[in-house]
Formats: sequence, C-alpha cells, structure tokens
Amino acid sequence: MIWMSCHGWRDWLEEVSWRNSIMPARSTRQKARARILAAFSAQLDRMIPEDERVPLKGATFADFEDQVEQLAQAALPTALEERAALEANAEVETAGRCPHCGSERVYLEKQVTQPGVLSPHGAVVLHKQHARCRSCGGSFSPSSS
Ligand SMILES: [Zn+2]
Repeated sequence: MIWMSCHGWRDWLEEVSWRNSIMPARSTRQKARARILAAFSAQLDRMIPEDERVPLKGATFADFEDQVEQLAQAALPTALEERAALEANAEVETAGRCPHCGSERVYLEKQVTQPGVLSPHGAVVLHKQHARCRSCGGSFSPSSS
C-alpha cells in the first residue's frame, strides 16, 4: 500500500503502457494489462478505499456481494475487450477471401463499428471491421470480432 502511494501506481501504469509502441494486434499486452488493472483498481478504490479514514460502505453480506458484483461488471468486460484486441487478426490489413463465394475480389470498408455484446459479466464493446465482395456483393467481417 505504501509502495503504491509513494510511487504513484497510475503513473507507473501509464509509463509501462506507452513504452512499447509495437503493434502486433490492435493493442499491446502492456496496454491491455494496464487498462485491465486500471479498471479493476478504480473499482477497488470505490469498494475498499486505501485511506483508512474513509468509511467502508455496506453492512450486510448481501451488500458485499453487490459490491463485488459491481466490481466484476466494471472490470471484467475490460479484460474481455482487451483480450479480443490482442488477437493477431483483431485488425486486419486486407479482407482476405469472401466467405460467401470464395472470391479474392474483396475490399475493406472504411467504416469500423463497435457493436456491444452482453457478456455474463456485463457489456463488452468490440471492434468490428467490415468487408465487401466485388464478385457477389456480399458483406462480411474479416476479423474474428
Ligand atoms: Zn463473394
């Protein structure tokens, strides 16, 4: 605890997350880990503030369960988003091959959407690329998202 307040944990996380600018996927492991830790840390600060003078909220076990569920719903979707972004095909450069007709006369559309998905632990925002086929006119998503 003392280590965190003395050295500024958040500053350290930011430094780590920006040190590596290589982009193997849509994100880097360092950025992913930093964002997950930051999301968890922010919720933990609300649930169990580091400052001993700040009173803890809740009184019953049911209250504590609610608090932990809030923490999970705020932090776990971030972990899922970041894990998905680390896949090598999270952001592709070319559309590849049309899944409808097999043609390679395909192109990536400029528009990227961010569909929301409801995971067991809350809403997750994905990053979805779209492609279109010149041969059959079909549309598809080239990435795994
Ligand atoms: Zn096609």
